[in-house]
Amino acid sequence: MAKESVIVIGGGVAGIGAAVRLLRQGYKVTLVERRGFLGGRAYSYNKTDAPPLDNGLHVTLGCYNYYLDLLKTLDAEDPIEFQKEFAIVYRGCLNGKSVNTTVKALPLPAPWHLFFALLRTPEFSLKDVAYACRMGGALWQRHRVAANVTVTQWLDQLKQPTILRELFWQPITHAALNRHVDFASAKLLAEVLFRTFLKQRRLSAIGIFKKNLSNVHGRPAERFIRHNGGSLILKQGIRKLLMGSRGIEGLITDDGQQLRADYYISAVPHYRFMDWVDEEMQRCWPESKSFAALGTSAIINIYLRYTDKPLADPFVCLLGSQVEWVFDVSSLSDSKYLLSFTISDANRYLEKTTEELANLAHVALRSLFPTSCPEKYDKAWVTKERRATMEHTPENEQYRPGVDTPFSNLLLAGDWTHTGLPCTLEGATQSGYCAADRLIEQTKGITTR
Ligand SMILES: Cc1cc2nc3c(=O)[nH]c(=O)nc-3n(C[C@H](O)[C@H](O)[C@H](O)COP(=O)(O)OP(=O)(O)OC[C@H]3O[C@@H](n4cnc5c(N)ncnc54)[C@H](O)[C@@H]3O)c2cc1C
Repeated sequence: MAKESVIVIGGGVAGIGAAVRLLRQGYKVTLVERRGFLGGRAYSYNKTDAPPLDNGLHVTLGCYNYYLDLLKTLDAEDPIEFQKEFAIVYRGCLNGKSVNTTVKALPLPAPWHLFFALLRTPEFSLKDVAYACRMGGALWQRHRVAANVTVTQWLDQLKQPTILRELFWQPITHAALNRHVDFASAKLLAEVLFRTFLKQRRLSAIGIFKKNLSNVHGRPAERFIRHNGGSLILKQGIRKLLMGSRGIEGLITDDGQQLRADYYISAVPHYRFMDWVDEEMQRCWPESKSFAALGTSAIINIYLRYTDKPLADPFVCLLGSQVEWVFDVSSLSDSKYLLSFTISDANRYLEKTTEELANLAHVALRSLFPTSCPEKYDKAWVTKERRATMEHTPENEQYRPGVDTPFSNLLLAGDWTHTGLPCTLEGATQSGYCAADRLIEQTKGITTR
């Protein structure tokens, strides 16, 4: 006999995670998604005259336990290529000195794998590595990192040397928190570093998708939901939550239909949740108006196609450049040599044209790889995700809501909720699982209707 009915609003990774978890427990699940496909902010698109492209290059880590579990459940066939050992290749210029180095972990238990990697990196002195160990100590005590401290302030407190900051901590912070170190939350970074480097060696491995994102979780999730008795309503947004004395009594869709269920899980981003926050909602839930303060931070991806192989490594961190990372994504397209460049915390680049951004990336690459990089690129495409993540500042951490709401039958999921992690595939999946688990806990003992 079927358990309670649940409507999950939003078909990103958080909504998929919640729906999948509940379907496996026998709940009657309907997932409503405004767009015509699942995947949310992690999707692929087809443009005329372009190979299938992801809306943004997504990196995963060995420590993405929730997300990897979701992929396993969806039966996504081995879609990620993980490094054997954590390694980052760096090229560029720091303080007028050119850098051409690799930080590569050793096959040793964590955290020694990283300790010896730093020790073997010529740019770091013994003293620098000693300061890195001090950071390691602080990570074990990460609950002590003050909530109001930025990454820069925290690195100052830990007396981190300039070279360690500029070569190691800063690029990681930008990539993981999508915010400059001067503004990013130290507490969030500490959690990321702890999960990545301190527990087990394999958890530090960086994973790059071998398939386009829509084939990794979007389409497999659609199949899973349909094959497991769930319903999918696509191309239909939820315009309003109907509040009643007993909680949420229904939903109004964009075209005016009413949808009803026993329980509701919102898995839409905070800036979409705000569309539902009216005076009535604020009366019941005063904190809801502060979700707008979470802000948004952009990520830009620049795809450049070349006729000759421009890069020998799978990805490189470009130091001292406006474009921070470059990935070889040729295997994702049937075109020859396709590179994806990422600019994080990119709000100030949003007004630049495709040509300007393409040139920025090409000039950066050519200056660092003058022999391998062809004189010209063949074709360029740019994706600008204006609202890629919330702004991960210390102040904003206090506004991230938990899974519970004042409405007994409404639960919250989404990367922006209080996961202890930045907005990532992992944080989003964790939030979806957490909402599903809370619902399961709440309905324990309640039988059929
Ligand atoms: C360019 C870019 C690069 C990124 N890089 C990485 C990375 O390298 N590694 C990493 O781990 N993470 C990365 N992320 C972050 C990651 O993609 C997100 O954290 C994650 O996908 C968010 O999932 P979500 O389900 O919480 O939200 P979303 O994916 O935003 O899903 C919400 C869904 O709700 C739908 N929706 C909204 N309003 C309504 C409504 N009213 N009714 C019905 N449906 C609605 C939306 O259409 C959407 O499908 C990146 C994100 C971007 C944009």
